[in-house]
Amino acid sequence: MRSELKISFEEDRLVVPDRPVIPYIEGDGIGTDIWRASARVIDHAVASCWQGDRQITWKEVLAGEKAFNQTGQWLPQETIDAFQEYRVGIKGPLTTPVGEGIRSLNVALRHRLDLYACVRPVRYFTGVPSPVKEPQKVDMVVFRENTEDVYAGLELESGKDETKRLMDHLSSEYGWHIRPDSGIGIKPISKSGSDRLIKSAIEYAIAHQRRSVTLVHKGNIQKFTEGAFRKWGYQLAKEAYPDRTVTWEELDGAALPEDKILIKDTIADIFFQQALTRPGDFEVIATMNLNGDYISDALAAQVGGVGMAPGANINYEKGYALFEATHGTAPKYAGLDKVNPSSLILSGAMMLDHMGWSEAARRIESGLEKAFISKRVTYDLARLMDCAEEVSCSAFAELVCGYMA
Ligand code: NAP
Repeated sequence: MRSELKISFEEDRLVVPDRPVIPYIEGDGIGTDIWRASARVIDHAVASCWQGDRQITWKEVLAGEKAFNQTGQWLPQETIDAFQEYRVGIKGPLTTPVGEGIRSLNVALRHRLDLYACVRPVRYFTGVPSPVKEPQKVDMVVFRENTEDVYAGLELESGKDETKRLMDHLSSEYGWHIRPDSGIGIKPISKSGSDRLIKSAIEYAIAHQRRSVTLVHKGNIQKFTEGAFRKWGYQLAKEAYPDRTVTWEELDGAALPEDKILIKDTIADIFFQQALTRPGDFEVIATMNLNGDYISDALAAQVGGVGMAPGANINYEKGYALFEATHGTAPKYAGLDKVNPSSLILSGAMMLDHMGWSEAARRIESGLEKAFISKRVTYDLARLMDCAEEVSCSAFAELVCGYMA
């Protein structure tokens, strides 16, 4: 029997009860402050939309320093089990333990739940200080592949025996001669891994009436990894979405039809320039892990920086989704009730959208925008604005609640 409190995944769709249990990781450092502020805003949005008919039941699960102090483990198995059981969760930032077996808790969580799509929307809110001339034109969603590339690669150190053995093999078998004091890095990019990520990006574009999906790659140099990603992307669009997608070549100068999504590609270096000079040309971006890492932070800088950028890690095939603040634990501000909670608040809004509770998500965005326009903001934005009043993290959350329609 299906519990009414658990979000389930049936026939490729999330089924969300009115009172779902949602596990959360508070996070280390500033996590306590931004989680408290975010939960306040999310709960207020849901209550103001449905007056108690819908409500989230939060369930704390442990990871990071709090987990280590209480259980001796950085990432207890119960935490993974809870995200698997309840499917949708949210987390604050986590310290990367130094000298422990787990390289990064975030990478471990993504890996264990196979959260292959890192989704980062980047949009501008009126009132937020920006270093670019027309930030209002920035409205993109980055789909970054989360499980491959250099993050799943092999690195061998210069001078080691194992490195020399590989060099000898590469020299005798492939005729590849390199300087003997080189370190070596190898990265995998698979067709199946690329396909599922690009499929998520195209389906997102279809569901959200976006006009284009851009494959960002460095395929001119790395032909059989990044170049293959590009090739597989076009192939997938042609084979799986023949009625919904079109390429520049197929358009041949004609206008883009209303019911079609343009599939195009850009080499990563020129993408960074064009994303600054012509941001309106890009809507949904599909890219590999390392490019995605650079691109999401560079784009976030145009619309207010890491304190503002939300994110999610999603497995669309199994329905698992973990929403998260994209910045770190900022230890120097821990416990000061000072930092900007917008990244986690906006991740909460993404989560509500994912659950189909979009009315509450729009209320959060509207409340945030009014708070930015009022110029009563946290220190990071206040220092970039003229005549702004700096408010604390918790006071900012109260302002956002007050501004919700
Ligand atoms: P960080 O915690 O993101 O902090 C770097 C700087 O970014 C801060 O000093 C602050 O800038 C600004 N900042 C971050 N969050 C902010 C917020 N909410 N509001 C306003 N400003 C904010 O990066 P880090 O110092 O490199 O990393 C610290 C720890 O976090 C490390 O253990 C790292 O491994 C971890 N980390 C975790 C995640 C994650 O869990 N997803 C991500 C990245 C890093 P100013 O100094 O200019 O005020």
